[in-house]
Amino acid sequence: MQDYFITKHTYTRIRDFADGFREKAVPIEVRKDRFTGRVSRILPFRMKLPGPSHPLPLIEEAKKTCPFCPERLESGTPMFPEEIIEGGRLRHGASVVIPNAFPYCRFCGVAIFAADHYISMDRITEKILSDALEASLQWFDRLFAYDSAVTYYSINWNYMPTAGGSLFHPHFQVVADPAPSNFHNRMIHSGAAYRQAHGTCYWQDLIRFEKKEQRRALFQVGEITFLASFSPGGIFGEVLALFAGKLSIQDVSASDWQDFLSGLCRVLRCFFRLNLDCLNMTLLLSRHGDADTWVQARIMPRVQIPPWGTSDVNYFEKGHEEMVVVFAPESLAEEIRKTE
Ligand SMILES: [Zn+2]
Repeated sequence: MQDYFITKHTYTRIRDFADGFREKAVPIEVRKDRFTGRVSRILPFRMKLPGPSHPLPLIEEAKKTCPFCPERLESGTPMFPEEIIEGGRLRHGASVVIPNAFPYCRFCGVAIFAADHYISMDRITEKILSDALEASLQWFDRLFAYDSAVTYYSINWNYMPTAGGSLFHPHFQVVADPAPSNFHNRMIHSGAAYRQAHGTCYWQDLIRFEKKEQRRALFQVGEITFLASFSPGGIFGEVLALFAGKLSIQDVSASDWQDFLSGLCRVLRCFFRLNLDCLNMTLLLSRHGDADTWVQARIMPRVQIPPWGTSDVNYFEKGHEEMVVVFAPESLAEEIRKTE
């Protein structure tokens, strides 16, 4: 496993204006995860925790035209064709699934959490998430009944505009397609290549390795193991949730889902405490399951960098496919472990 986690330490020298132009060495750590292909530069000296980022007057103003609020939902959002979803919209508990008005694949939906226009991160409960999750799963089942070629799914979350959300009203982006996404496909191929090279399952080996190392292991709820990723996809790190041995959507039981949501809420409590109150989440699923590709989720805080609200994504991520990470994965792990 250690062969898959490559770390290189280097440094650069500058003469520091804040210290009489004395020369100093600035350390730089470059990490490569050979399994995911992700490269990151861990630069904790740039670390500065952001302040709370949700502009309440703006959120209130946006409520007047929000299409996901109950008074506009029926008349101002699209419906699915009747043969796919009877009545055009799928409702479960407080959640409702509608088509994405700006689709980017064969079946693109939005699972609106509840009637509430704004739910701050500390008020997002397992119950709220459970309704949206169950509605999303039911939607996948209906799509599969309609078209059995649609077997790859993902449940995605842009929580707040800082994380790419176009509306404040909380919702999942749910996607179903005959083919896996680029990253999902890489997980499938890397899993098969690892099995061929080592004769074992990568995810099982990863959990064993991280539990022994004790640096990035977070906690386990039932069959769901939460880890901090060695080379994360976000500037403040990434939490990886692994559904042990679960390959397909049918393999995941109702209690597994509850265990996942319980762990997810613990992660949210930590993010909120650190003012990391925007996030992206991606949960990968498939109908039939690919060998050695476990159901898995990645949760990444997103921030605007003070004082100008600078984006946390720049030329490095966009043009070089490398992440600048200011919060070392091991530090994020420490913070999450001490959150109840
Ligand atoms: Zn709304």
